[in-house]
Amino acid sequence: MTGHSEKPSRVVEGQGARSTATETYRASRRGSEHRATQPFDDVAGLSECPKVNLLDLDQPQLATFFAELGEKPFRAKQLMRWMHHFGVSDFGQMTDVAKTLREKLGAMAEIRPPEVKLEQISDDGTRKWLIDVGAGNGVETVFIPEEDRGTLCISSQVGCALECTFCSTGRQGFNRNLKVSEIIGQLWLANKSLRQADGYDMLPPRERIISNVVMMGMGEPLANFDNVVTALNIMLDDSAYGLSRRRVTVSTSGLVPAMDRLRDECPVALAVSLHAPNDALRDQIVPINRKYPLAELMAACRRYLEKAPRDFVTFEYVMLDGVNDTVEHARQLLNLVKTVPCKFNLIPFNPFPNSGYDTCRPENIRRFRDVLMQAGYVVTTRRTRGDDIDAACGQLAGKVQDKTRRTHKLILEAAA
Ligand code: SAH
Ligand code: SF4
Repeated sequence: MTGHSEKPSRVVEGQGARSTATETYRASRRGSEHRATQPFDDVAGLSECPKVNLLDLDQPQLATFFAELGEKPFRAKQLMRWMHHFGVSDFGQMTDVAKTLREKLGAMAEIRPPEVKLEQISDDGTRKWLIDVGAGNGVETVFIPEEDRGTLCISSQVGCALECTFCSTGRQGFNRNLKVSEIIGQLWLANKSLRQADGYDMLPPRERIISNVVMMGMGEPLANFDNVVTALNIMLDDSAYGLSRRRVTVSTSGLVPAMDRLRDECPVALAVSLHAPNDALRDQIVPINRKYPLAELMAACRRYLEKAPRDFVTFEYVMLDGVNDTVEHARQLLNLVKTVPCKFNLIPFNPFPNSGYDTCRPENIRRFRDVLMQAGYVVTTRRTRGDDIDAACGQLAGKVQDKTRRTHKLILEAAA
C-alpha cells in the first residue's frame, strides 16, 4: 500500500561525476537506462526533460542530487534553508548560491508547491486551504491557532481506501497517494500564507507560527508510508522547519505493520483512531480492524511506545450517538487500554449528508468522559473550530474521484 517518493538515482560507477549527473538526471526523468555523453555544463538539451521538483526531496536525497551534479553536500543544507525555512521558490533569490549553479538549477529543477484553489478564514482565526491535486480533485489543509501553539492539519492521500463508516473521506473512496511535494507543500503554502498575513515575505529566523503538525486531514498517512516519512523528515529537519518530534503527530486507524515501521524509521507522536472498545463493534465501523484486531493493535501501541518521543499514545474516539457512547462502552474501553499508557481525545461526530449517524448529545459525551477521568485518565474533548468555514480536523472534505469502484460496489450491495 505504500507509495514511492521520487529519488534522484545514484552516481553511475565508472563515469565522471559531472557527466554522470546529467546522465542520471536525464535517465531518471525519462525512466530509461540510456546513457548520454553530453557534458553537464551544456544544459541546453535539458529543457525537453520534465524538471525535478526539489520539494519532493529530503536533505539526504537532495545531497545525492547535488553529488550527482558534482556539488558539495553542504548545498543540500543551503537549499533546504532557502526552500523551507525562508519559503523561497525562485533560485534567483538564493543570494549565497553561485550564479552558475542557480542557472543550472533553473534549467533542470524547480520548487513547485501545489496550487491553492481557495483560502478561507474563520472568525476564530482558523484558516482552511483547498489544495488542487489535479484531475478535478482537491484536499484540504487547516491551520488552528491557539494561545500557546499553532497547529496545521495536513492531508496525506486523495480520499482513503479504508472505508470507516462515519468518515466522509472514507465514503468518497480512494484516488491516489499524495506526493512528498504535495504533503510538505501544504506546510510550505500555509507558512507562506501566514507569513504574508503578518506582513512578512520571508520568515524571520526562529519565529514559528506553525509549531505543531497533525496528519489528521484527508487519508490514512500510514497507507502512503514512504512519502509521508520523507515529508516528516523535512518537517523535523533543523534546516527546514525544525519541528519537534513531540509536536508532529501521525494519526492512524491502526495499520499494525506500518506502525512498527514508523517506530523504527521516524518515531513521532502517535494518535490511534480507536472509536470502539471491542472487536465486534470496531469490525463494523473501522473495517481495517478485521485485519488487525484490537489485541494486535494494543500490542503495536506498546511496541511503538518503546521508541516514541512521548510516553503515551493518544486514542481518538469519535462519539456516535447510540453506537459507541454508553457508560458500558467507556468501561470496556478502560479494560482494553489498561496495558497501554494513553490519553483520550473524544471527537464529537461531525455530521455529513446520508451518514446514517447522529451527533452525540453533550451530556452523553460528558458522562463518557467522566468514566475515563474518574479512572485517572487525561481526556480532551475536541473543540469545534472554524465552524463557519467547515474546518473540523478529521473530516476535511475536499473532492475525490473514486478509483476503487466504490460507488459501483455500493450500488451492487444496495441492489442485493
Ligand atoms: N486516517 C487517519 C487520519 C485522518 S482522520 C485516521 O483515521 O486516524 C482524523 C480523525 O478524524 C480520525 O480519528 C477519524 O476517525 C476522525 N473522523 C473521521 N470522520 C469523522 C467525523 N465525521 N466526525 C468526527 N471525526 C471523524
Ligand atoms: Fe480513512 Fe481515517 Fe477516514 Fe478511516 S477515518 S476512512 S482511515 S481517513
